Amino acid sequence: MPYPDAVNLAFNRAVIEPDFAFSTPDRDRPDEPGYWLVLRENDLLVRQAPDGDGFCLPYGRGPLGGPYAVTPVFIGTWLGRPLRTARLVPEAGSAPGLAAVPAGYRSTLLDEKLLSLAGIARQVLHWRDRSRICPACGGAPREIAGSFGARCPTCAREYYPRLHPAVIVLIRRGEEYLLTRKPGWPAGQYGMVAGFVEFAESFEECVVREVAEETGLAVTDIRYVGSQNWPFPSQIMAGFTARWAGGELVVDTTELESAAWFSVKNPPLVLPPPTSIARFIVDRCAPELVAAALARK
Ligand SMILES: [Zn+2]
Repeated sequence: MPYPDAVNLAFNRAVIEPDFAFSTPDRDRPDEPGYWLVLRENDLLVRQAPDGDGFCLPYGRGPLGGPYAVTPVFIGTWLGRPLRTARLVPEAGSAPGLAAVPAGYRSTLLDEKLLSLAGIARQVLHWRDRSRICPACGGAPREIAGSFGARCPTCAREYYPRLHPAVIVLIRRGEEYLLTRKPGWPAGQYGMVAGFVEFAESFEECVVREVAEETGLAVTDIRYVGSQNWPFPSQIMAGFTARWAGGELVVDTTELESAAWFSVKNPPLVLPPPTSIARFIVDRCAPELVAAALARK
């Protein structure tokens, strides 16, 4: 079992604490040098680590290069020093000595700490980008001290960062598990039913509805497994298991490429990425299926 608990998954704060301490933009000390989390599209700009093994964050007064699509913002401290993040425009060149390394959840080049730091950066920058114009009056909201919120000086409306709750569920029927595949995923890779919580819905109600919509199946015995912050761009995933309670598989091809029942005799070719709660759930709740899939390679 690679992770003792879901809280230890990439993108959750436990991965980077206590080296990382979260703070708010108003607490920055702009003259103090610090670490930089600079994104350009899906890449993180990093330096080769001094010992030559892996990467580390650039350090200095910055900012690094430009121009910026989202200007630098202080988000806390990393290893006791200020940590600031910014997003370059897609066309921006890399600053000298820095490498642009993919920082998506499939990245195998960054360690979990850098991947999780890039995740926080992605969420903060997404929110900063989406909150720069007041949707009610077109004014320019300003930071509310002590938070990442913003208040519009024209109409006084306040806005606070938004995370979008979603569920993901592994369904069991006897010795079989239902796995699903979305268009564009790596060849042979399967995941599981997932979707966003809607108005007036509990997590469990969302599981029942999403499973019915995507697969035509009914489920029961819904059990919470754990959760993961998922900064692509700003979801919080609640993971569950459920038991098949009826219905035949009818795949919603507007959402899924395919879905099928898998077992140790017929395991999936490729398991979900190790950074994902989908993988945590199959590791934890279907270890025999994982063993069969890994043995197949
Ligand atoms: Zn306004």
